[in-house]
Amino acid sequence: TASSTIPPAGDPGRVLAEVFGFPSFRGDQEAIVRHVASGGDAVVLMPTGGGKSICYQVPALCREGTGVVLSPLVALMHDQVAALRLAGVRAAALNSAMSFEERVEVERAYAAGELDLLYLAPERLSTPGAVELLQRGRVALFAIDEAHCVSQWGHDFRPDYLRLGALAELWPDVPRVALTATATPATHRELTERLHLDRARHFVSSFDRPGIRYRIVPKTKVRDQLVAFVKGEHAGEAGIVYALSRKKTEQAAAWLREAGVDAVAYHAGLPAEQRLEAQTRFLREDGVVVVATIAFGMGIDKPDVRFVAHIDLPKSVEGYYQETGRAGRDGAPAEAWMAYGLADVVQQRQLIETGDGDKATRRNQLAHLNQMLQLCEITSCRRQYLLSYFGEQSSGPCGNCDVCLDPPRLWDATVPAQKLLSTVLRIGKERGRTFAAGQHIDVLRGTESDRSRALRLDELSTWGIGADLSVAQWRGLVRHLLAVGVLESRGEWGVLAPTEAAKPILSGDESVMMREEVIARRGTGSTGAK
Ligand code: ADP
Ligand code: ZN
Repeated sequence: TASSTIPPAGDPGRVLAEVFGFPSFRGDQEAIVRHVASGGDAVVLMPTGGGKSICYQVPALCREGTGVVLSPLVALMHDQVAALRLAGVRAAALNSAMSFEERVEVERAYAAGELDLLYLAPERLSTPGAVELLQRGRVALFAIDEAHCVSQWGHDFRPDYLRLGALAELWPDVPRVALTATATPATHRELTERLHLDRARHFVSSFDRPGIRYRIVPKTKVRDQLVAFVKGEHAGEAGIVYALSRKKTEQAAAWLREAGVDAVAYHAGLPAEQRLEAQTRFLREDGVVVVATIAFGMGIDKPDVRFVAHIDLPKSVEGYYQETGRAGRDGAPAEAWMAYGLADVVQQRQLIETGDGDKATRRNQLAHLNQMLQLCEITSCRRQYLLSYFGEQSSGPCGNCDVCLDPPRLWDATVPAQKLLSTVLRIGKERGRTFAAGQHIDVLRGTESDRSRALRLDELSTWGIGADLSVAQWRGLVRHLLAVGVLESRGEWGVLAPTEAAKPILSGDESVMMREEVIARRGTGSTGAK
């Protein structure tokens, strides 16, 4: 084990400078560090890149004993430990991926007081002897990273986190600091309660990332849109493209490479060497684009990521914010771009319906999805929506999102919505069954097909009443009505059904205002204000 270069009971400012090489604290860091170093509990809400690690690493080094860090991601743990060791800190991790001998050595070093920081996965605490092991040494503080995982209604619940509440009773005199980058006011309350942090001070940083420009465009030809965005607007710049499936990441990486962009795929199914190579190239070389599933980016500290693109809909606003937060950490302008369409909405609902998880879990996932859809469909400032989602007030429209820069033209879609809803109801009533979006659109547009003939759909009174709108416009409307909860899509086939909210629209008591589809304007749905 390396010998520590840290002065015992060191001064926070000195530790920051001498160990981490930073001349000064940022934002709330200093207040948090001093509070925890002097024995107080803390709840820290700070956006990705805000510098949460310092908030427990420095106080751990200032206090006697070992700082115990509970962190859910084993891979990240190793990176952190390696970086700390390079800085001369006596850090180690304990996890099931290690050999028996390695574990024994770490346990010995901990009990002998030879460690400044010890990283553990939360599930470790429930293994036999874990508490006894920790009691053999001296704990300087507990840091609970990704603390939102304790929230059952959050987007990333992990049952093992529930046990962490017991730390308060087992070590009543040891300060605890819980940290997260994604907490809505409800999650914030819940994590405070479940982790028994009733005496904690709360440090809530602003979540605003003014340097990031948000843009969400309707998905038309996603390949062309993505290439136009990456190559046309961010040529030679580093970025991350997120997709939902492994296959899609490989496909999209190929699209970009064919267009001359230096793109690599990254997902958990690739061999470790290939992943490491992608990660290393992304970090070290200029202008590498990684096309990844969400696994990528956690703990990757690259300040000059100029864009994050989503070609599939994230499952929650929390997830979206965390992923887009990886852009522009250096403070220079960056873009968060997303293309989303009807198929995304239907697919995500199907994933939720067919996924495992009880009724309450599904309802929770649907609520998260619906909030994500609202962000996509709103016709007011995106940043204001995001900030209010995280419980923050903003002074007005931001001037740096697609809505502010290029206010969408609004379209009164009440009449088309009525036509669509009547079609859905009528097919249900007269043919005893209902269909997915495509068939309804065929009826509305009066599109002849074998199926429509077989089912005599051309005898329906709504046959052809919507020939004035294109298929894309109809799909946009279906997507909008799904997003705002007027329609539901059910089952494997994405069968459409109206909800209670359809009634006032059919009766004409409520109107449907949606953004005019930008189908006529080609390309990436550019704001033109680059
Ligand atoms: P988070 O966990 O909140 O996403 P990190 O702890 O990984 O953030 O820190 C993000 C980046 O900011 C890292 O590169 C870190 O070295 C840097 N950083 C943190 N605190 C400071 C500081 N006081 N001065 C300069 N850089 C800092
Ligand atoms: Zn705005």
